[in-house]
Amino acid sequence: MLRQRHEMSLAEFAVITGLYWEPETVIPLYTAGITEIDDATLRACQSLETSNNVELNFIQCLINSTQLTTPISGSVYTRANSSFSTVLQAYIRNLRFNESTTRKPALIITALDVSHVQASVLCAKEHKLLMKTRSGGHDFEGLSYVADRNFFILDLFNLRSINVSIEDETAWVQTGATLGELYYRIAEKSSTHGFPAGSCPTVGVGGHFSGAGYGNMMRKYGLTVDNIIDAEIVDVNGRLLNRESMGEELFWAITGGGGVSFGVVISYKINLVRVPASVTVFQVRRTSEQNVTDVAYRWLQVSNGFRREQHERFPELGLKPSDCQEMNWTQSVLWYYKFPAGSPDSTLLSRTPRSLVHLKRKSDYVKKPISKQGLGFIFKKMVELERPVLTFNPYGGRMAEISEFAKPFPHRAGNIAKIQYALDWNETGVEAANRYINLTRVLHDYMTPFVSKFPREAFLNYRDLDIGVNHNGKNSFLEGTVYGVKYFKVQDLESQLQDLGSQLEMERKLREELEQRIKQRLREQNEIAQEKMQKQMQEFISKFIASSNH
Ligand SMILES: Cc1cc2nc3c(=O)[nH]c(=O)nc-3n(C[C@H](O)[C@H](O)[C@H](O)COP(=O)(O)OP(=O)(O)OC[C@H]3O[C@@H](n4cnc5c(N)ncnc54)[C@H](O)[C@@H]3O)c2cc1C
Repeated sequence: MLRQRHEMSLAEFAVITGLYWEPETVIPLYTAGITEIDDATLRACQSLETSNNVELNFIQCLINSTQLTTPISGSVYTRANSSFSTVLQAYIRNLRFNESTTRKPALIITALDVSHVQASVLCAKEHKLLMKTRSGGHDFEGLSYVADRNFFILDLFNLRSINVSIEDETAWVQTGATLGELYYRIAEKSSTHGFPAGSCPTVGVGGHFSGAGYGNMMRKYGLTVDNIIDAEIVDVNGRLLNRESMGEELFWAITGGGGVSFGVVISYKINLVRVPASVTVFQVRRTSEQNVTDVAYRWLQVSNGFRREQHERFPELGLKPSDCQEMNWTQSVLWYYKFPAGSPDSTLLSRTPRSLVHLKRKSDYVKKPISKQGLGFIFKKMVELERPVLTFNPYGGRMAEISEFAKPFPHRAGNIAKIQYALDWNETGVEAANRYINLTRVLHDYMTPFVSKFPREAFLNYRDLDIGVNHNGKNSFLEGTVYGVKYFKVQDLESQLQDLGSQLEMERKLREELEQRIKQRLREQNEIAQEKMQKQMQEFISKFIASSNH
């Protein structure tokens, strides 16, 4: 596994923003077969705002695809289609990318089955059109529906079937399903089974699973990807592969390395986990008048070693029985996401997000406890900046037992917590966005002494383009390296040079020390020889004087 990450990562993890093919400069205007497009599609095609006819040829390619098992024309939305904006916006989860200035896709394909995915991949490849794959649309940087050049969206929300087998304690789930739908379908069949994935029910399986995924059961059962046992993917050649036919390396990559660099994941097979019939939840608030620094300090000391004895180990929290509530696991998911008490389980099926805002997220890892003084500084800075919020997720438990090479996600033993930086706002426009994004950057900079270093690690599912953007030009390898280093802890050139530098320095010091020792030895030998000579000389002189006296 060590070999796998170190060998494949730099090149293959470099492109995480979408399946991408360089656009050709000249494309023939019309090709044979145009009359096979139905009238509606033809009208739509004719109104495409395009300097060449890439899209037209692309649609034609789709419609003529031999793979199709269902007609595709009803699933193709061009900008001329009256539902285009509705379809586009249905899964935009960050309003920062829903501005009038945001580049819109040339078209959207709402795939109905695997053959639509295969046709989209093959035609995108043939016509060199950038494809963005969207499942739940929750990417923090909008990478599933935003691009800086002409592109189309392959929308997977229709591919949402979930087959749960309580007998085997497994389930197959398609990537267009949401986490809430998965939790609901499991709960429908068993009140003592669950799945360790994210806390937000509207998050999509496609992005969440392929980027590792964590949730409230992380310390008990590890990450989402630690509980995936099979997958189906359409690769760049349009082949539908499962774990056996794709091989262990590709399977490893799409369970934490981000799916989109490798193909379109159609479904995952998961192991369900056991949950108690009743779980306890609580929320306690502490303010600066209530020694919040002491509580936070103690939390960082004990949180990742928490077991049953938390009362004895964390008295500063002051947890009372009246703070605690008991409920089944599904209700705890709703409780955690702040749905009103008594919300029916079917709330999990809603695809409408509770709120839509402009947002920015960043991440960090804490490896050493932060001192009380340090925490005091952090709280002060947060009060000064007003808006950014920090969330600490405790690691340890099962997370510390799984090898950092088991999956592309490497942040395992040695981590106390992950931090999420969050800032939400309602104002539209670039100026507001820049102002608020800058606040998250200021706080992130301020946190430097308290978090991981060399590399400063980050969580792939908390996509953050401040880390760097690959322009797919001549520097793409170097630009991509930064992802490998921060998200996957692949050793970077800088650290390699640092290693080499310190090795050379060590060798220089050793050489110096050796030289010193040799010189010292020579000096000593010299001194001994001189002393010996002097002694011999003195003996000789004494003998000479004695003999001359006789
Ligand atoms: C409100 C909210 C709450 C969140 N809570 C959590 C949490 O508790 N735990 C956690 O780990 N993360 C959490 N996240 C982050 C979330 O896991 C990631 O943003 C995830 O990538 C979203 O998946 P998606 O399918 O909804 O997003 P999308 O935007 O559709 O996809 C995200 C990325 O994955 C690619 N992709 C999507 N589907 C496929 C596919 N089928 N095959 C290949 N590539 C694909 C996309 O192209 C894009 O690059 C949260 C995000 C939000 C907005």
